[in-house]
Amino acid sequence: MAELIKTDVAIVGAGIIGLAISFRLAGAGREVVVVDPNEAGSGASYGNAGTLAPYACAPVGNPDVLWNLPNLLLKADSPLTVRLAALPALVPWLSRFVWQSAPARARRNGHALAGLLKDAMPDWRALAEEARLADLLRYEGCLYYYRGKLPQKDSEWGARLRNEFGVRQEWLTSAEVARLEPALPPAAGGVFFPDAAHTVDPAVMTRRLAAAAEAKGATFERARVDRLEPQDSGRIRLICRDRTIEAHTVVLAAGAWSQSLAAPIGENIPLDTERGYHIEFAMDVCPINRPVSPVDLGFYITPMAGRLRVAGTVELSGLSAPLNQKQIAVLERGVRKLFPNLGPVQSQWLGFRPSLPDSLPVIGPSRRYPNLIHAFGHGHLGMTLAGVTSRVVVSLIERRNDVPDLFAFRPDRFG
Ligand SMILES: Cc1cc2nc3c(=O)[nH]c(=O)nc-3n(C[C@H](O)[C@H](O)[C@H](O)COP(=O)(O)OP(=O)(O)OC[C@H]3O[C@@H](n4cnc5c(N)ncnc54)[C@H](O)[C@@H]3O)c2cc1C
Repeated sequence: MAELIKTDVAIVGAGIIGLAISFRLAGAGREVVVVDPNEAGSGASYGNAGTLAPYACAPVGNPDVLWNLPNLLLKADSPLTVRLAALPALVPWLSRFVWQSAPARARRNGHALAGLLKDAMPDWRALAEEARLADLLRYEGCLYYYRGKLPQKDSEWGARLRNEFGVRQEWLTSAEVARLEPALPPAAGGVFFPDAAHTVDPAVMTRRLAAAAEAKGATFERARVDRLEPQDSGRIRLICRDRTIEAHTVVLAAGAWSQSLAAPIGENIPLDTERGYHIEFAMDVCPINRPVSPVDLGFYITPMAGRLRVAGTVELSGLSAPLNQKQIAVLERGVRKLFPNLGPVQSQWLGFRPSLPDSLPVIGPSRRYPNLIHAFGHGHLGMTLAGVTSRVVVSLIERRNDVPDLFAFRPDRFG
């Protein structure tokens, strides 16, 4: 018979979101079991660009992206691709994405994101200090680097939104970009976000966060949850192949895979994945001091421990298609435009951003099953928002009175 493990809180998924929640909950004295078939931090949290980007309040779906969509889909080396075979399955998500990109809806989504992002850095500082991760963070800001024309301050939808929500952004001349990042080729200009930070190793960060959660008393079960089984008692069972975990409260933090567990119990959440890639170049000293995004190329270049990581692009192609070498080539050609003398690519990686059509995460209890808390769908911002989301989820579970308004992030917002 399958082993039955009973616990107070079970967390499905040991990515940055599930780990941050487990650390804080265990720290609050709760009995916590984290369930994941893979090593902690081996999903999207492993290979991202590592930026903590509190400035990124512009949702992916916005009027500028909509306007540029034909160009983005057709141009060579575009940072956006859609695999034709995946298109039929993607139509519902894409239709919602287009709907959410209209000016008023995109502005509303940006407003909701900005509300979370304003706490991103203080929450990360607190988390990093408590979990002793501060040595993995660098507070050097982040640079948007414009190779061609520098847009007018007010011509870009995202820039206007950032202004409106009080995000600090400094418009730089070509000479000012060169002073910040002398190794880059001459730029038309740039935008500097002084409040951003980055981690020099997302994988080490998640592994150490897992160890810190364990040290606080959390336990880890290496198992795939096959299905959720809400009980009449209100408790929820996680059915795995060789064991069952029963918890008073379950946090669903399985990233891009969350909907496959939520759908069978009637939760209708249009989660899909924006696949992203990275390549890395081994080096002792990186040529840049902070994450740099050459905006037209659609990726970030981040200085990391012992390597330069180039991460980004969006491929709409579902969870099962294999790594696409064309996307790797797009990244490589792009970065060699800036640094032609880079050595060979040392490693390549495909990851699955968990994305909703409105670019907002799902945070909050299920309407049908109040003991099931959703914490997924952080899209391009899961690293950045891990501190905020974990604080909010712990407050929810602990029934503290500092839970912010989660209406914009409710699981049933799509009906
Ligand atoms: C190329 C790229 C660049 C990015 N850059 C940045 C950036 O610079 N800044 C930023 O803030 N964000 C960035 N992101 C986004 C960020 O990486 C994600 O939003 C974040 O990692 C999501 O974390 P997560 O914990 O929700 O999911 P994941 O890290 O994917 O973790 C989900 C976990 O759930 C587990 N799981 C799945 N199914 C089951 C199951 N049935 N049972 C049990 N466990 C299960 C998986 O094994 C996995 O460990 C980037 C993403 C990509 C792809």
